[in-house]
Amino acid sequence: MTLLAAGGQPRASVGAPASTLIRKARVIDGSGNAARAADVRIAADRIVAVGRLPPVPGDRVIDGGGLALAPGFIDTHSHHDRGLDTAREATAMVSQGVTTIVVGQDGGGIDLAALFGRLERQPAAVNVASYAGHGAIRDRVLGKDFARAATAEEIQRMQTLLAAEMDAGALGLSTGLEYDPGIYSTPTEVLALAKTAGAAGGRYASHIRSEDRWFWDALDELIAIGRQNRMPVHVSHIKLGMHDLWGQASKLIDTLDRARAAGVQLTADIYPYTYWQSNLGVLYPKRNFADRAETEFVLSHVALAEDIVFNSFRAHPEYTGKTLAQVATLRRTPAPQTLMDLLAEPGGDAAGIVARGMSDADVERLIQWPFANVCSDGQSRGLHPRGFGAFARVLGPWVRDKRLFTIEEAVRKMSSLAAANAGIVQRGLIAPDYFADLVLFDPSRIADRADFGHAQDLAVGVRTVWVNGQVVFDNNAPTAVFSGRPLRRATTR
Ligand SMILES: [Zn+2]
Repeated sequence: MTLLAAGGQPRASVGAPASTLIRKARVIDGSGNAARAADVRIAADRIVAVGRLPPVPGDRVIDGGGLALAPGFIDTHSHHDRGLDTAREATAMVSQGVTTIVVGQDGGGIDLAALFGRLERQPAAVNVASYAGHGAIRDRVLGKDFARAATAEEIQRMQTLLAAEMDAGALGLSTGLEYDPGIYSTPTEVLALAKTAGAAGGRYASHIRSEDRWFWDALDELIAIGRQNRMPVHVSHIKLGMHDLWGQASKLIDTLDRARAAGVQLTADIYPYTYWQSNLGVLYPKRNFADRAETEFVLSHVALAEDIVFNSFRAHPEYTGKTLAQVATLRRTPAPQTLMDLLAEPGGDAAGIVARGMSDADVERLIQWPFANVCSDGQSRGLHPRGFGAFARVLGPWVRDKRLFTIEEAVRKMSSLAAANAGIVQRGLIAPDYFADLVLFDPSRIADRADFGHAQDLAVGVRTVWVNGQVVFDNNAPTAVFSGRPLRRATTR
């Protein structure tokens, strides 16, 4: 690549000057250390120097204006890959300072060699890393006959497919054990597959088998995988997702800390909302949708009828944005009967919902766990605001108003800790030789604007975002520079 334009002058465009010098910023380097006044020089795709740096010929000088300069944020649990091929500017992400997304979550994610190839030919504004998904692999082997335990021979075939995905650069194995087809797997199957990922130097990230009724058993299953396979294990979007579990955040953190003290490499990610997004079917782990007692249990313990909002229901687009309680009123049937009736319709169990399942106090306590990094679990469409707001919400209101932690700790949870928890190397710190993924933002102003009813409103307070040394977002708009890369698992440390 030519770094200098004809005549030896730095290019005037945001494309690729010889070097960029960001001056007069408050550098929050991602380690958790205190912010400090410093300059940062970028050359090509790397950070080359940090400190008091006088400009040199060829520098494109950017005045940081006293704003905070942090490593670009890493979203360790993202569904923003949906639609990324046609909306490559990745606005939902870069407008919050997110420069890397980790996809292939909840048991999805397969054919990573093809995915990474596409991202190389037609890159997006953000970097993309991916897990290989247990559910997708299971689907290849079992197909429609998935509602059962796999045989030893089938598990072996899954291991072969997974090993190929690991060779293609998967970070490890993800599972979605509350979803079809993962929910039908035995712990033995999951342990064996995780072992294949671990043997290749990968990790295990799980939407665990239950986030409500059998939460503690599900957590034990994940911890056992870490202990027996001696591999890093990660709880995806950790939550206490049932009214009966509310108030037990301290007990949960004690459990996590005890496992770590016993040597298990255990981490988690979490998003800053009390609402989750999924489908109606997930409310019924036994898929007994016509069971009245189960339905009444769901609506009194897992999520109340007034706390379940329809996000997408193919047969009933008119329900979008309405609560189950409102739909019940419209249909003139009690909420439990309404729920059973809807589930009996074609595609009913796949109807998308957003539901309040967690308590504010628990989310605020769990996000402070030193090994929990911030994620969005978000996407670029739908009713849930997390896809456009999760990172700005933590950096702004949750640091400034709730004072849950310092801004340095918030940044650490979005950068170096996130990188470590996902196995991403050479990103997540402002230090020489690290990739120049950077975000310049105003700590006094950064805030989420997305909320229910206007879930795609852009966050405010981010001024400039660099991905691999190039500006992808500036002055409230994407730049149409697509400098993101596929990030394959590092095989050397
Ligand atoms: Zn999930």
